[in-house]
Amino acid sequence: MPLLYVPGNHDPSLEPPDMSWMPLRTELPPAPGPQGCVNIDGRIVQANGLRIAGLGGSIRYKAGPNQYSQAQMRWRALKLEFRTRLGRVRNGRKLDILVTHAPPFGLADAVDSAHVGFVAFARLIRNFQPLLAVHGHIHPYGRQIPERRIKAARVINVVPSRMIEI
Ligand SMILES: [Zn+2]
Repeated sequence: MPLLYVPGNHDPSLEPPDMSWMPLRTELPPAPGPQGCVNIDGRIVQANGLRIAGLGGSIRYKAGPNQYSQAQMRWRALKLEFRTRLGRVRNGRKLDILVTHAPPFGLADAVDSAHVGFVAFARLIRNFQPLLAVHGHIHPYGRQIPERRIKAARVINVVPSRMIEI
């Protein structure tokens, strides 16, 4: 099983550098981000028979990479939704796991402007009803945050780490 991840708002930009005017070289620079891991931001991948999609970043609350307005994230989610619908599946479920940094809107335990969730995530989860939607960004500081649901999908805050059976 590969190690899949999405960047958070405290991570550097993982956009590949613009190479269009670089001198020709034999070796390309390594892809940004943790080596040996797979960035699934804005992508859907298949791993161990599961279809797993990711959307990194948080709501924009200051300057910096990996932050988006609700409208920008709606657009990113629509592109992902389009790709997800194209997938051919045997069991009828187009999406098994959604991995996001920020929570879906309405389910966050914090309501300050930096930690409000994305409306687009709640919509994705309602539309596709994955088995599991995991997110970070909300630090519970020792409190136990109960598992929540959007329709049939389990929604779990995985800060700082979680082992989940599916
Ligand atoms: Zn965060």
